[in-house]
Amino acid sequence: MAAEETVEHKYVYDFAEGNKDLKDLLGGKGANLAEMTNLGLPVPPGFTITTEACKAYLTTGREPDGLAAQIETHLESLERGMGRKLGDPQDPLLVSVRSGAKFSMPGMMETVLNVGLNDRSVVGLSAQAGGNDRFAWDSYRRLIQMFGKTVCEVPGEEFEHALDDAKRAKGTQNDLDLDADDLRGLVDAYKKIFAKHTGREFPQEPREQLDLAIRAVFESWNAERAVVYRRQERIPADLGTAVNVVAMVFGNLGADSGTGVAFTRDPASGAQGIYGDYLANAQGEDVVAGIRNTVPLQELERIDKKSYDELLDYMARLEEHYKDLCDIEFTIERGKLWMLQTRVGKRTAAAAFVIAGQLVDEGLIDLDEALHRVNGAQLAQLMFPRFQLDHEFQPVAKGIGASPGAASGKVVFTSARAVELAAEGESVILVRRETNPDDLSGMIAAKGILTSRGGKTSHAAVVARGMGKTCVSGADELDVNVPAKRFTVAGQTVNEGDVVSIDGTTGKVYLGEVPVMPSEVVQYFEGSLDPEHIDNPLVRAVHRIMTHADATRRLRVRTNADTGADAARARRFGAEGIGLCRTEHMFLGDRRELVERLILASTDEERERALAALLPLQRADFIEIFREMDGLPVTVRLIDPPLHEFLPPLEQLAVNVAVAQERGEDVAKEEALLAAVRRMHEENPMLGLRGVRLGLVIPGLFAMQVRAIAEAAVEVTRNGGYACPEIMVPLVGAVQELETVRAEAEKIIAEVVGDAGVEVLIGTMIEVPRAALTAGQIAEAAQFFSFGTNDLTQMGWGFSRDDVEGAFFWRYLELGIFGISPFESIDREGVGRLVRIAAEEGRAARPGLKLGVCGEHGGDPDSVHFFHEVGLDYVSCSPFRVPVARLEAGRAVLTTAGSDSR
Ligand code: ADP
Ligand code: MG
Ligand code: MG
Repeated sequence: MAAEETVEHKYVYDFAEGNKDLKDLLGGKGANLAEMTNLGLPVPPGFTITTEACKAYLTTGREPDGLAAQIETHLESLERGMGRKLGDPQDPLLVSVRSGAKFSMPGMMETVLNVGLNDRSVVGLSAQAGGNDRFAWDSYRRLIQMFGKTVCEVPGEEFEHALDDAKRAKGTQNDLDLDADDLRGLVDAYKKIFAKHTGREFPQEPREQLDLAIRAVFESWNAERAVVYRRQERIPADLGTAVNVVAMVFGNLGADSGTGVAFTRDPASGAQGIYGDYLANAQGEDVVAGIRNTVPLQELERIDKKSYDELLDYMARLEEHYKDLCDIEFTIERGKLWMLQTRVGKRTAAAAFVIAGQLVDEGLIDLDEALHRVNGAQLAQLMFPRFQLDHEFQPVAKGIGASPGAASGKVVFTSARAVELAAEGESVILVRRETNPDDLSGMIAAKGILTSRGGKTSHAAVVARGMGKTCVSGADELDVNVPAKRFTVAGQTVNEGDVVSIDGTTGKVYLGEVPVMPSEVVQYFEGSLDPEHIDNPLVRAVHRIMTHADATRRLRVRTNADTGADAARARRFGAEGIGLCRTEHMFLGDRRELVERLILASTDEERERALAALLPLQRADFIEIFREMDGLPVTVRLIDPPLHEFLPPLEQLAVNVAVAQERGEDVAKEEALLAAVRRMHEENPMLGLRGVRLGLVIPGLFAMQVRAIAEAAVEVTRNGGYACPEIMVPLVGAVQELETVRAEAEKIIAEVVGDAGVEVLIGTMIEVPRAALTAGQIAEAAQFFSFGTNDLTQMGWGFSRDDVEGAFFWRYLELGIFGISPFESIDREGVGRLVRIAAEEGRAARPGLKLGVCGEHGGDPDSVHFFHEVGLDYVSCSPFRVPVARLEAGRAVLTTAGSDSR
């Protein structure tokens, strides 16, 4: 035992020791480098420092005990394997120090290349490369630049300006035209910049460079932009990053060297083929940074057929092995191919469906796995409208369709401006030459992102795809001038505030606002595309996976609909009933007048007359809805909001009265209304006279609604239809409330229905915490429960949504009190617990009690999974969310945990 206790914690893993399932410990990059190493692919040797070491460092502010020694041991073994020593003046080993968290966070954290170079080893490096001075000095200046920026927070622009100055002095735009002397000069300039900002000389000691770089990678986990990104992507804040130390290979050794990225399928459309970008004579980060224009990967076949064939072979092997789209980073050093990274690649929503379908066809995965690999958020994206183009709209530029969707908005050129205008409710398109991680908040705020440089793998493209935001990248006809806040294209100038439209599928850019039309996927759901006879691979894949989801799911999916038209659309989208039909909408428009009469009634007769006038109107509404939902259940909620919501606002009435008095007009009615509004004023309407309380206070109100429902059901059924109404009482907190309403309702129903063969259920919403906690009693009087999770959240937390979302939710999200707004996704532990208690105790009191949920959570993917777990019978959501809920209800059944769909 004692011996075991002294065994040192293992913080460092050689690539040969890891594998792809160790992402928690080694991060995605490290785990996959290990996996490729073990598959026998040519990965430069190296080792991974674990996320645990990072977490320990971040908590204590210093490297954990034993880490330094373990790094030393692994470094020595790396040096032995390579036959070179880190920073050796004659024949130096150089390494890269690369971040890599469990979930990929493209460009968010730091990497330093060429660690180990200094004033002496730069000469050794040149000798190693056969006297290639240019290469050695280029590598050195890159080290100072990356190290300065990443490790010592030297402003990156300073280095870029110095590089621009060097190019200008040489009369060129291309960094390849700088020769060894120019680059040596640049190294001097860089060192001065470094010293100016850090107050010290650039560190010459290789091991110090290494240790500082490792520490900087640890710390980059908490960099502002990484924090913002994690919040956006809902990545937990406490995972930490691993650090990979990898022997350098060089793509900047000349024309027979280069670097690139590749996808095994098109990450935008999912189409099979070879996709990627290649850049000759360059180091890795040049490709993604969009410094020079890349060539399509196919051209590598012409440039270096041997490496190309080898790469294709590895790509096929990786796909076969991961059974999924992989993306790859590689470098060719003088004709020798090196694999520097792979992972299961990010993809657009469309590609996710198409690829899942293809992999089923190819026999690599089954339908369950295909269903597991797509999600409701992606499906929701595919339901976005697309541009409706006629000849009126000609594109002014074409870039790369980097992330699909159709977005129009006012042009802005800075992240800050994007945030500002978006806060004012404007749609904006963020236009940049290229984006960098500092633009993140602007990218989140914008409707779309347009860049003039960079390929499918540029920062803008990768981040936008991850966020599901429309993006066109590399539209190089655009001449973007950020300081002047304008760009020019095709002889026209577009200023900040002008409207443009961008199509992230085709990459086309339009001036002005282009109208939009429904997506193919919506057309399919609408029933206007026959999935069996269409060659659109996306629609076919969606059809196939949705069919499987429907066959798999246990939860039924209903919709929230208040009109026949909504009901009809939702039914086409697969709704199996209405879970929430709000009747208050039936009190609006020209019916307001009747409601006013109801409120102002001073005698029973007046009130009854007002209700009698409302009855046929409500009945007609219900008839329409029952017809559309023929044969399916329709849950009708009795009137819920406080009645004063139907009256004009106080100020308006006061003005009306004053004006009318001035003119000597009859103001009796206005005055009566004004008095009513004053009388009915509530400090907290959310907690006031509403829901069941109204029904108990205002005689005849619920009775009229119940009668309208029953009469409509009878009428539809007499005409050969089949109406299944469920009357839902809102805001019940005590069983006595429900019992009172129910006794009256049952009398009316019995009288109206007679022997018409219509069954009307009576149940309640569970939306007051007290109702959840007394659900056993309430179930005695309720034939069904429907959880009103919006109110349950409001009352469970004790805040009103309208007041709090804008006021402090941002802070709560920032502090991590919420991972996500509890109105967006159900708070499982608190509000969810109320749901769980009510479901269990309700079912215990009345076995077979029908349980559902209405409210926005019904269409939220995570919440759907929760409602499945709790054992509800159905969820109900807005019509457009119905397909999302169907899909997620199917996915909820698949318990296959483990593989991350991020
Ligand atoms: P990111 O996570 O931002 O992609 P990486 O750690 O992958 O950062 O590194 C950035 C770039 O540097 C990549 O293009 C990668 O291929 C390249 N690179 C990293 N390590 C090496 C190495 N040992 N030799 C050559 N290039 C490298
Ligand atoms: Mg990378
Ligand atoms: Mg409610």
